[in-house]
Amino acid sequence: MNYRFSDTLKNLPGSVLSRLISLADSLEDVVSLGVGEPDFDTPWPIRAESIYHLENGDTFYSPTRGFLELRQQIANYLNRRFGLSYDPETEVMCTVGGSQGIDLVFRCLINPGDEVLIPQPGYMAYEPCAVLSGAKVVPVLLKEENGFKLKAEELKKAITDKSKILVLNFPGNPTGGVMTKEDYLPLVDLIIKHDLLVVSDEIYGELSYNVPHYSIALIPEIRDRVILLSGFSKTFSMTGWRLGYLCAAKELIDNFAMVSGNMIICTPTITQYGGIVAMRDCDKEIPRMKASFLKRRDLILSGLEQIGLPCCKPEGAFYVFPNIKQFGLSSADFCAQLIQRERLVLCPGSAFGAAGEGYVRCSYSYSKPEIQEALKRLGRFVSWLRENK
Ligand code: PMP
Repeated sequence: MNYRFSDTLKNLPGSVLSRLISLADSLEDVVSLGVGEPDFDTPWPIRAESIYHLENGDTFYSPTRGFLELRQQIANYLNRRFGLSYDPETEVMCTVGGSQGIDLVFRCLINPGDEVLIPQPGYMAYEPCAVLSGAKVVPVLLKEENGFKLKAEELKKAITDKSKILVLNFPGNPTGGVMTKEDYLPLVDLIIKHDLLVVSDEIYGELSYNVPHYSIALIPEIRDRVILLSGFSKTFSMTGWRLGYLCAAKELIDNFAMVSGNMIICTPTITQYGGIVAMRDCDKEIPRMKASFLKRRDLILSGLEQIGLPCCKPEGAFYVFPNIKQFGLSSADFCAQLIQRERLVLCPGSAFGAAGEGYVRCSYSYSKPEIQEALKRLGRFVSWLRENK
């Protein structure tokens, strides 16, 4: 049967990580640091609230943007935690995870041929979503020697008169890089001069270890150009709930909501009830999870040092991105051999764009014994590579 898929779809790269995971599925005794998903239970008050509403039969559609109470609590949370100000009625909407937000923004803003500036190594969903909306993706290099921060000179090199959207993701997946206010300021003139819109994916905003998280939406001159994208998955360990949000100027949110209404009608309402409690009552859960991630980061960093894999110290999120260039192997080959020899799954850096080649991503959102076992296997593999060079 010829299903006649669209040319755009045919040209999308397949997911490297899912290929590796299916390779791993055929083996026994596999250890994985491959997936970026917190391992905590969703805090009980959140689950209890959703159970209550399910039992109560509150199982109907909500407004497309989400319940006003949830949008109010999101606005309160963003104000309390990061000093941001959004009007819950007009400037906030819920999405199906941060993921739908990424798709929605591109769908609403891209005309064929518009360029989207994507800092790389960067989260793997941006590129396919941009391409599916008809955009041309222009990578902007994030350099290891700059702590994977975005530098104005790199942005300048990538901007053309077709540039429309700049995607930012700090704290970042896969690098763990963070940006402070001082890091953002040199970008502001470029953003204004080239009339760029900024999609700031701050889904790891609560996981900034050394400095408080700073949102680029706090810079008054560009506030109306910034679309803040975030969600509940990482902060409250709610990956399966599929709840996220977008905050932006009214005119943007009006249009996003109109399109989203046609795509999904609304986000699941049972999830939204839990989301209200997460935003309103669960700040105290955040430091506990963050402290646990920080311990795991230090554990994995010291393990990598012992193995002799250089690694830029990540200041946020829950990933380390060690450099494997010394072995002269592509990251995909390194990871495939690692699975075959040691049954350990890591994510090849090339999954995050060409700039990720020469690195692998290890997620440390796994238990201490899993991390220790992974380090043991990685150490053995690296010794074997060195002996067999
Ligand atoms: N942005 C980034 C940078 C991510 O790492 C992820 C999940 N891995 C998402 C967005 C999407 O998360 P979700 O849809 O679960 O909110």
